[in-house]
Amino acid sequence: MSHLFPNYGRWPIRIIKGEGNYLWDEAGNRYLDFVAGIAVTSLGNVPPQVKAKVQEQLDTLWHCSNLFEIPVQEQVAEKLTSLTCGNRAFFCNSGAEANEAAVKLARRYMQKIKQQPRYEIITFKQSFHGRTLATLTATGQAKVKDGFDPLPEGFVTVPYNDKEALTAAVTEKTCAIMLELIQGEGGVHPASTEFVDHIKGICAEHGLLLIVDEVQTGIGRTGKWFAYQHYDIEPDIITIAKGLGSGFPIGAIVGKEELAEAFSPGTHGTTFGGNPLACATALATLETIEDNGYLARVEELGAYFIKKLNGLADRRTDIVGVRGKGLMIGVELASEAAPVVAKMRESHILLLQAGPNVLRLLPPFTIEKDEIDLAMQTLEEALDAVTQTV
Ligand code: PMP
Repeated sequence: MSHLFPNYGRWPIRIIKGEGNYLWDEAGNRYLDFVAGIAVTSLGNVPPQVKAKVQEQLDTLWHCSNLFEIPVQEQVAEKLTSLTCGNRAFFCNSGAEANEAAVKLARRYMQKIKQQPRYEIITFKQSFHGRTLATLTATGQAKVKDGFDPLPEGFVTVPYNDKEALTAAVTEKTCAIMLELIQGEGGVHPASTEFVDHIKGICAEHGLLLIVDEVQTGIGRTGKWFAYQHYDIEPDIITIAKGLGSGFPIGAIVGKEELAEAFSPGTHGTTFGGNPLACATALATLETIEDNGYLARVEELGAYFIKKLNGLADRRTDIVGVRGKGLMIGVELASEAAPVVAKMRESHILLLQAGPNVLRLLPPFTIEKDEIDLAMQTLEEALDAVTQTV
């Protein structure tokens, strides 16, 4: 009998080792890792530059109190603000905590600094923002909320990429709009440029804050540091987690200077937030991406992969469409994705589904072209075996 709560639908494999783009199970089987983007190890297992920095930190300081200044925390804050339109950073331990902090900051800014009684956060259908009570309420997927009533007030969810629905949802109580620029869990759906331009206009017109959830899209996954940099916007708050720590738990929000006064000592915090070990992984991760030119690599390999997938889609009726940017790619099938995911796993390639029909391909930035080619060939074989329609 397992001693774990059964809330994860785990695959029947026991993973004990990772190296580069591969994972090994207990029986010695090697798997090509196309789930790294969700599992956050965007630089592969275990990136040597990150390992060296963490090793150095392991040998010097573990104490994690925010009672004093911690130089490595300041270094990550400086780096993140230099890479974004934000000027201040706050550290926490996960994506949900980052979104929770963003909601609190937005509400407190409106209520304490702007002196306006606004609290409502507009989010989008099919979005995913986390599993704390506030962030699951913000999430636009009913299954995440099921059985957890009563949910906190002050969240409104409207259809994604729908300008009219968004306009209609804004009231004098609206405080912020919270948005994923590519919905990850919801099926790899990008926001259209027109929609994002519309959001920008609505925020300016009504004095709303724009919170961009970059938990999945951030830290290079789409070929830029952050997905918002593909659009003509400057979010007020950016939420970050997953890839930031190369597998070590760390989350962050980066916000504009004028928001900073809304948080004063005692208003928000968490024991482990910004601890030196987590910050060492984050700093080394950011430096590794920069030193190795990974953004250009993600862009190039992403374009290569998407082109190949589009070629496959042209030849097959069982692929409905290919979406995504950089190495955040979704392939929508005409039928259920689960049997294809299982078949790929039998062929030792690990990938995920997002929603019932979408395959999600999130390889590490270190993936090679021949490994993408192998995944393409294996996918075609898996589709042949599962859907039998060529
Ligand atoms: N936001 C987005 C866009 C996510 O994809 C996720 C995790 N899938 C979260 C927030 C929550 O992150 P965490 O699991 O670290 O709380």
